[in-house]
Amino acid sequence: MKIYRAKHGGFCFGVTRAIKMALEAAGKSKNVSSLGPLIHNRLAVEDLKKRGIRPIDRIDGTKKNEIIIIRSHGVAPDVLRKIKSKRCGIIDATCPRVRRAQRYVQRLVDEGYYVVIVGEKDHPEVKGLLGYAGKRATIYKEGHRVNKKKIGVVPQTTLNQEKFNDAVADLISDVIEMKIYNTICRETAVRINEATKIAKKSDVMIIIGGKNSANTTRLYHICKKLRRSHHIESASEVKRSWFKGAKSVGITAGASTPKQQVDEVVKKIRKMYPKEKKR
Ligand code: SF4
Repeated sequence: MKIYRAKHGGFCFGVTRAIKMALEAAGKSKNVSSLGPLIHNRLAVEDLKKRGIRPIDRIDGTKKNEIIIIRSHGVAPDVLRKIKSKRCGIIDATCPRVRRAQRYVQRLVDEGYYVVIVGEKDHPEVKGLLGYAGKRATIYKEGHRVNKKKIGVVPQTTLNQEKFNDAVADLISDVIEMKIYNTICRETAVRINEATKIAKKSDVMIIIGGKNSANTTRLYHICKKLRRSHHIESASEVKRSWFKGAKSVGITAGASTPKQQVDEVVKKIRKMYPKEKKR
């Protein structure tokens, strides 16, 4: 069995940075929490819990001097204010690329644009971006008319470029002026391109990452259009029956998948199909 493993699968720059900041904080204090799971990966979050980083859902109930980690997705300014009012410490691990998108949203509002954010409405990054625009923003919905003459458009950093292009083309017909900040993260495009190339030359694709991870799910849907694909969270889910008649398997992972989870999947497939010894 030939295994094609993506070079760009696994933790992105922003996630690596957030985890490093969180672990450093946990090394200095026993009172460290992350607002929401630090990454969208159930197994990795369990591991972080053991290392002293407790995910919390709400700011209410936090203790004075508790250290709250803002994850790479960032939060809205009113959330930051609320944490400060609770006299908690803040470690802001917002990815600098998400922070840049937040600044663009704010700038657009200051310049009088109505902001349209293209992304998933329930994604924490999108909720954070919306918070920087106050009431002068909406989330893009296909076919929905915004009814404003002057709009600013900003995508979620992990959006697929094609989807963003389609949204811009849809919106432009109604407006007089449109200002675009393309904040799509390069890591997203690199992963999608590589996964597409691997899927085209593989018989089966395995995409590893949390079922709650938007970027992993997106990779899965892209691969699924090209090949028989399986989205898994851990090596224990890999089944021999998936490889019936296959000579090659492609493996990629989302931006919040630890390298160890990918290693374990490769190891399991290698165990099923050991390399032939050269004579
Ligand atoms: S995908 Fe890009 S923008 Fe999002 S956290 Fe990772 S590095 Fe930052």
